[in-house]
Amino acid sequence: MNISSINPVNGQQIQEYPTLNEKQVAEKIEQTHSAWLDWKKTTPIQRRTLMNRLAEILRERKNELAILMANEMGKPVKQGLAEAEKCALCCEYYAINGEGLLADQIIETEASKSYVSFQPIGIVLAVMPWNFPLFQVFRFLAPTLIAGNCGVLKHASNVPGCALAIEEMIVQAGFPAHVFQTLLIGSKMVEKVIENPRIKAVTLTGSTNAGITVASKAGAMLKKVVLELGGSDAYVVLADADLEKAAEICVASRLTNSGQSCIAAKRFVVEESVIAEFTQLFLDKMKKSVMGNPLEMDTDIGPMARIDLRDELHAQVLKSIEKGAVCILGGELPEGNNAYYPATILTNVLPGMTGYDEELFGPVASIISAKDENDAIRIANDSIFGLGSAVFTKDIAKGERIAATELEAGSCFVNERVQSDPRLPFGGIKTSGYGRELGSFGILEFVNIKTVYVK
Ligand code: NAP
Repeated sequence: MNISSINPVNGQQIQEYPTLNEKQVAEKIEQTHSAWLDWKKTTPIQRRTLMNRLAEILRERKNELAILMANEMGKPVKQGLAEAEKCALCCEYYAINGEGLLADQIIETEASKSYVSFQPIGIVLAVMPWNFPLFQVFRFLAPTLIAGNCGVLKHASNVPGCALAIEEMIVQAGFPAHVFQTLLIGSKMVEKVIENPRIKAVTLTGSTNAGITVASKAGAMLKKVVLELGGSDAYVVLADADLEKAAEICVASRLTNSGQSCIAAKRFVVEESVIAEFTQLFLDKMKKSVMGNPLEMDTDIGPMARIDLRDELHAQVLKSIEKGAVCILGGELPEGNNAYYPATILTNVLPGMTGYDEELFGPVASIISAKDENDAIRIANDSIFGLGSAVFTKDIAKGERIAATELEAGSCFVNERVQSDPRLPFGGIKTSGYGRELGSFGILEFVNIKTVYVK
């Protein structure tokens, strides 16, 4: 079986790659295990030097990487350049802070000495999605290698070029052979990889269904899992918000990565007293977004990553309209063999509609009316997901209270869009997953938190 990368701009195949068979996968895992036996003994200084070199390479190669992402999954190049830069920052963050985050923690007891030591566990399998083909991998890879673990990557089947480029950069940075390898395999082979005794843990970023499959298998093998799954982030716009600013931030968040971001704002829950004004501002800004060739620097919305994903999104939009949602922008398929979908706005969105109940993974906004603040919070939380959330208000104390104690999500922002940051933990609750990536919590997910007690 082969894996192909297909350009979503025109549906044409870019390249085909042979997949690995079971024996080849087992051999690669064995190579990575051998590499780990030495890698875990390296000093923090050695790891830090290599990680800093990897950051330099990301910056040196960022143009080429942005073009690769644009071709394989349609990301506009200006966003691809920013993504490569963010990966470099992530590498530098762990290069600088890794040693401190992993330092022994002394705990006073009756012992002459007792402390917690954070030890590497071995090879972690990463199953990753195509939407941020570099950053999703780097936010796993940087802390994992710094902690003395090794990694194998099963990347999404539509971005094999990105998967191989990541492996190549690690080699180029001078990391020892095989500490991190790409496995070109389909999703059916993932269960076999999890069964391999050399694999000690799994991290998956992707859809909730993929998460359930992988977590079930890992559970049966008693292996730890971190799951970063889907989201339908609600942005609550209160009557006292700066509506102009809120609309600007909401549109930017909704259109990130042509709408294909787990933490893109998807539901806009607006107090009814300001919904007309907010909707007009939102519409004006959505209309200004430029859909076009992802290789052009002024493009805001490229094609979606695959034609089938675009078609699924369109079916969701049509279902909401059938149930009474009003489409005030977009909602029509462009002509041709491509994966483009226009910026789209649905208003009058209610429970029972796809725009309310499901994740819309593309440039489609659902605007939902709330009677008042309490009703807005209730609607925001009325979701099976709990990844991110934001609240817009000029009353900062109120905003902070709502973010900290009322909104049900892993990350809650006030007057700002939800974004991941290497310094802060990132992850979800409910069906958005469990465990955390990034920050001090992320690096400690895959270590043996070892108690050392000296009488
Ligand atoms: P996906 O279809 O679940 O794919 C993600 C990865 O899982 C791919 O490598 C895929 O491989 C693999 N996979 C799919 N089904 C599998 C199975 N049954 N067993 C083992 N592996 C399986 O998701 P996607 O369409 O690429 O990404 C979109 C979803 O990811 C959205 O729901 C989005 O919200 C979520 N996401 C979440 C985060 C987060 O941090 N929480 C970040 C980004 C995206 P193949 O490509 O070979 O099928």
